[in-house]
Amino acid sequence: MSDTPKHARFRTLLILGAPGSGKGTQGKVLGSIPRFHHLACGDVFRSLDTRTPLGQKFVEYSSRGELVPDDVTVALWHANVKHRVEAYLFKPEIDFLVLDGIPRNVEQARILEKHIEVLRVFHLSCPDRTELARRLRKRALKDNRFDDANESVIQQRFATYEAETKPILDYYSGDRIVNIDASQPPAKVLYDILGGVMTLDAWKELEKMKI
Ligand code: ADP
Repeated sequence: MSDTPKHARFRTLLILGAPGSGKGTQGKVLGSIPRFHHLACGDVFRSLDTRTPLGQKFVEYSSRGELVPDDVTVALWHANVKHRVEAYLFKPEIDFLVLDGIPRNVEQARILEKHIEVLRVFHLSCPDRTELARRLRKRALKDNRFDDANESVIQQRFATYEAETKPILDYYSGDRIVNIDASQPPAKVLYDILGGVMTLDAWKELEKMKI
């Protein structure tokens, strides 16, 4: 799979937004719909055994609100997606790949270029950082997320998002970007995302296929 030919790049929908903007919630719901396969980079990291060197690296960086280095992140992502293809969990010929949490900076976007064809970038926008911090504190308790429990780590994660992740919007600029108000109820955010999917030629082709 490392020498994936250009035409065989995964047809990909990106969900982009600050921590707490609802990327994971939307990704999970979308991934439960046939022909959409959700892959959250944070979930892949959290599934690592923390006794392994890579697991420890994840704890080290995420507990500071920083990004794990690009080389290990992309290698882990690639191994994970390859496994999903081989296990027929993700079927690239008929499924959209819904990525959440990766790419998380422009360098990752560049490296992933040979594997993914980005059709849409759904930008879940919520300028109200107080609301996002409130959601994160709630999640820290419910999902046992250590990186959401501490106020200074939360602020660092917002800063990392602004400095490293948001520039991705310029990298993918143009009509691929769909800005969505992330302060709306989850069902309305999903409605807006699906609206953006259904105008895609790739979606129209899929609709015609009898699977
Ligand atoms: P959220 O959904 O709140 O934005 P994630 O679960 O996606 O958070 O990620 C949690 C942490 O995992 C990040 O703060 C970062 O340390 C690490 N991480 C996840 N994805 C990446 C990535 N693509 N590159 C580098 N680090 C990552």
